[in-house]
Amino acid sequence: MLLRLPTSVSEAREYLAEGAIPVGGATLVWAAWQRDGFPEQAVSLRGVPEATVIGDGVLGGAVLLHQVDDRVPEVLRLAAKGVGTGAVRRTATVGGNIAGSSLRDLLPAAIVLDARADVLTADGVDEVDLAELEAKSPVLLALRWREPVKGSYTKVPDPAGGEVPSIVAAAVDTEGVLRVAVRERYAVSSGSVEGGAGMVEAVGELFRGELSGVSEVVRGLVRGQVARVLEF
Ligand SMILES: Cc1cc2nc3c(=O)[nH]c(=O)nc-3n(C[C@H](O)[C@H](O)[C@H](O)COP(=O)(O)OP(=O)(O)OC[C@H]3O[C@@H](n4cnc5c(N)ncnc54)[C@H](O)[C@@H]3O)c2cc1C
Repeated sequence: MLLRLPTSVSEAREYLAEGAIPVGGATLVWAAWQRDGFPEQAVSLRGVPEATVIGDGVLGGAVLLHQVDDRVPEVLRLAAKGVGTGAVRRTATVGGNIAGSSLRDLLPAAIVLDARADVLTADGVDEVDLAELEAKSPVLLALRWREPVKGSYTKVPDPAGGEVPSIVAAAVDTEGVLRVAVRERYAVSSGSVEGGAGMVEAVGELFRGELSGVSEVVRGLVRGQVARVLEF
């Protein structure tokens, strides 16, 4: 396998056009490659400046999870900190997690930040929303967002005893919009409430709407996180 290490977006796009497979820390793909055979070419974005930036509302796709520090909002930092083991976090990347894994712990945090994704396409760099990132797993160059006023994140063992921990993330933006995202088993659901709603009103609206499928136990977690960000 030839590992390509481009130092610019245009060079990365050339390798992708040649069929190189994107690779982050290879924490997920290595076992599959050993089992099924290595690709002819892989491409890592770790030498591409746009993919390694942290801070000022941007997080590069090639940033290692353990590098995600207080230059990003707490909600995203806690999400990265909660992934797997220290060894995984020292190797796995933001792009591998959010665009390439099934658990995607970073996704609920990115949703409540109302993040957008810069992705590589055949023609250049496109900005897409997280729904498209989730559905199509394009090559993630970076996430970008506007700083929230306050965010909150929790990851707990599945209250129903399943293997996948439950996640609840919440954040309020500068216009007072409250966003909440929940992962229960592998399903991620999210909703938002316009500024000015109080805790009871906001939670009621979410549970009647986009979060209507969330279990009763996880609803308790949602109430807790919403109370934190609305400071009740
Ligand atoms: C022991 C263990 C525990 C784990 N626990 C958790 C957990 O608690 N929560 C959680 O969320 N995850 C967990 N994971 C998954 C972990 O987050 C992934 O291993 C990691 O996200 C993959 O990152 P990577 O950079 O190593 O990706 P790789 O293994 O290099 O790639 C994985 C996939 O992502 C694609 N990819 C890589 N970079 C990009 C990019 N920039 N854009 C688009 N696609 C890309 C690759 O083509 C490949 O399909 C765990 C993994 C392990 C091994």
